[in-house]
Amino acid sequence: MNIIILGAPGSGKGTQATRLAERLNLRHVSTGDLLRDAVAKQTPLGKQVESTMAEGKLVSDNIVLDLVKGAVTVHDPDDPWDGWILDGYPRNSAQAEELEDVLSSARETVEGVVFLDVPGDVIVERLSNRRTCTECKSVFNLLNRAPQVEGKCDDCGGDLVQRDDDKPETVRERLAVYEKETLPILDFYELRYDVHRVNGTRGIDEVTDEILELVSA
Ligand code: AMP
Repeated sequence: MNIIILGAPGSGKGTQATRLAERLNLRHVSTGDLLRDAVAKQTPLGKQVESTMAEGKLVSDNIVLDLVKGAVTVHDPDDPWDGWILDGYPRNSAQAEELEDVLSSARETVEGVVFLDVPGDVIVERLSNRRTCTECKSVFNLLNRAPQVEGKCDDCGGDLVQRDDDKPETVRERLAVYEKETLPILDFYELRYDVHRVNGTRGIDEVTDEILELVSA
């Protein structure tokens, strides 16, 4: 099963994609995680995208397409996954169209498109209180999923930090980019697929259960 999960920054895409990937044995393809990893390792790609990401802007379409292409068109009989879940891609209409082309050339199909619906004021509150583990990437929220020990990850004990792009000035830019570039692709998907709109303001488990039910129906 191949799934695309759409939603604003902070809508819970990463959290839900991780859980769905575990439950459905899917490869979790997160462009944000792949890019952050490249920045952390200071690879040539990481150095190239670092300042764009820190400003909350989108990195170039070619760069992300290269990251995604191989992961969504695996035809290896030993591939251990039963499909993939794309998180953070596509982010604009050019990427959505490129993805359709890549998938149709590879004869891949998309079985589920999920849109996590969360209002803007909730997003701002979530992002400013989000803390991420530097080691295992688990995500916490100081308001409703606080770590048991301040500054430390419950899962692995790693240090929790605020992502550079979760600082207030950058959050404003990311939301502006989301509204201008990403939100319009919902229409693109609604014309082609049965998009599952899910209320993302509820508890994490409830949201996961609803998505599982919708994509398995
Ligand atoms: P995310 O973790 O998905 O919020 O992504 C963090 C940052 O990575 C974004 O603000 C962009 O700078 C960059 N990024 C992630 N995915 C994409 C994409 N599909 N297209 C362009 N830039 C992206």
